[in-house]
Amino acid sequence: MVALIVAYSIILACSDKKVTTESPQNDEEETAKSNVGELLDLRPKVKEIITVDYDTTRWVEIKDNEFFTLDIRYASQNNFMKQSIYDCPRCFLDIRTAEMLKDVSTEFKKYSYSIVLFDCYRPLPFQEKLWNLMPNATYVTPPSKGSMHNRGSALDVSLLKTDGSSVDMGTHYDHFGRKAHYDYTELDSSIIANRQLLRSTMEKYGFRGIRTEWWHFSNQESPADLSDWLWPCD
Ligand SMILES: [Zn+2]
Repeated sequence: MVALIVAYSIILACSDKKVTTESPQNDEEETAKSNVGELLDLRPKVKEIITVDYDTTRWVEIKDNEFFTLDIRYASQNNFMKQSIYDCPRCFLDIRTAEMLKDVSTEFKKYSYSIVLFDCYRPLPFQEKLWNLMPNATYVTPPSKGSMHNRGSALDVSLLKTDGSSVDMGTHYDHFGRKAHYDYTELDSSIIANRQLLRSTMEKYGFRGIRTEWWHFSNQESPADLSDWLWPCD
């Protein structure tokens, strides 16, 4: 139906053009119309100019594309706190960590998987916000200590199939309990295999997982400094 509408629109556009061309015009009018046409043609290109609003020597922004899908839970109410912590959903990583992730994403593409990102760099002020809501070191790292997320050196991820559906990892993100532990074995063998594929591929490119959260990976080899930089929102 959409294709039909598009085709019909093109036919209509062609008809309009034909009528215009057949109208009596002098050369000046032709030139003026042609210039307007060029200006109109430029409009989409102007829109494509990307504004970089962060320090590119420190950060890489991960955006939705064929390799990645953003599902930044702390920018929504779909998290264990049931409230939005971030002002808007953006995913930044330290340059060295982003470089490692790029290699991981290329490899997952070979298996027809893409990466869904639940959390990336977490600014220290947001860590404080989390801590104030949940001052329990079992669930939230104290801001005085700072976590790898606060350095842009950690990320929370899972995998998606080509149709956009989730690869079954046994629990949802931020499930706090034994079932989310990487070494929990009372799971379907296919789920264990999915977790192993995620972890082994991440580790192949230098990331390290943790025992208690199947989704959490960090760059322990070259961690960046703690940061309180807040990304801008529109
Ligand atoms: Zn994490």
